[in-house]
Amino acid sequence: MKIHEYQAKEILRKYGVTVPAGEMATTLDEADAAAKKLFSAGNAAVVVKAQIHAGGRGKGGGVKVVKTLEAAADASKAILGMQLITHQTGPEGQKVQRLLIEEGSAIDRELYLGLVLDRATAKVVFMASKSGGMEIEEVAAKDPEAIFKEYIDPAAGFQPYQARKLAFKLGLLPTQIAEAVKFMTGLYNAFMDTDSTLMEINPFITTKDGKLAALDCKINFDDNAMFRHKDLKELRDLAEEDPLEVEASKFALNYIKLDGSIACMVNGAGLAMATMDIIEYAGGKAANFLDVGGGANQEQIENAFGILLSDPNVKAIFINIFGGILRVDVLATAVVAAAKKLDVKLPIILRLEGTNVEEGRKILADSGLKFEVGTTMKEAADMAVAAAKG
Ligand code: GDP
Ligand code: MN
Repeated sequence: MKIHEYQAKEILRKYGVTVPAGEMATTLDEADAAAKKLFSAGNAAVVVKAQIHAGGRGKGGGVKVVKTLEAAADASKAILGMQLITHQTGPEGQKVQRLLIEEGSAIDRELYLGLVLDRATAKVVFMASKSGGMEIEEVAAKDPEAIFKEYIDPAAGFQPYQARKLAFKLGLLPTQIAEAVKFMTGLYNAFMDTDSTLMEINPFITTKDGKLAALDCKINFDDNAMFRHKDLKELRDLAEEDPLEVEASKFALNYIKLDGSIACMVNGAGLAMATMDIIEYAGGKAANFLDVGGGANQEQIENAFGILLSDPNVKAIFINIFGGILRVDVLATAVVAAAKKLDVKLPIILRLEGTNVEEGRKILADSGLKFEVGTTMKEAADMAVAAAKG
């Protein structure tokens, strides 16, 4: 689960990590009031920041440093409601519905700090780099030596000597080391307590007067741990997620929207991946990934149809089922009932294998509905591609 920068900073604050003072705003009036407060507190500059679940906002025009209240109002007007396009949003961009109005910082150096779970070592790794403010993926590709890493023993936890090592490698001043240890330890504690899978401070800055601060913060939580974080769950912003994916998650359907024209309904994640591959191989494009699960019943199939049909790009539906726990006759009965109930007009192509496959095929043939049934995955995929084109 992703959260906004302002929410992430709120969490960091609780762990004693220095972040600039600021307030979230959803209207221009709120933004104006927040800017007024910051200027009257004596700040020379205020930063207006778009809050979306994607990075690269600065380059896309979603971060503006301003020196007057009028300029702050102009920046807020320009950013709030804009369709912000960054390398992480896709070409259609993401609509900005929240702003963070923050005190400006006098930046001396822009550095990078990150925590992530390293699957190879099964440890949390603390990363640091002098190349802050730019994509860490780019740094990793061009100059991997520029990323310093400390692997954290899960039993011992993050040790002060590890923080000191990173601080020295970053070239922090001797007077900043104690502060940096406190800062990094706070990040580690926040990361662990919230069951995060990723935490990035980019940039982690030193200011002209020698202080340290988290100028940006990105946190991703582990979805599988959210059941023990009711408070964090409330930070979810559904406006940032694909509406069809939100709908699918209500029915416990494992659905990811894609931009092709062939909708897929499959049982099992591996088969779903193979289905997308074979559609591509047959010259088509999948409209989604959808795993209906092993124990799908009629209601679940109906829900799945509903989701697939509400994507206007869909021109054909490819149902690829290997009947194991889910018997093929049960699936076929559910498909017929759901197709009748929802009055599905789009071509439905099926490839069925497994337990009770003959009974399943008979149910489809006797249904009075027009289904196309392929015997192999490739044959069915070819039929689906042809149907989507025709
Ligand atoms: P991102 O582009 O989505 O990663 O957004 P960031 O919050 O990282 O902001 C992008 C860039 O804006 C930073 O790398 C800084 O260079 C700049 N920036 C952000 N806040 C301030 C500030 O308070 N003062 C100054 N001078 N620059 C800032
Ligand atoms: Mn950033």
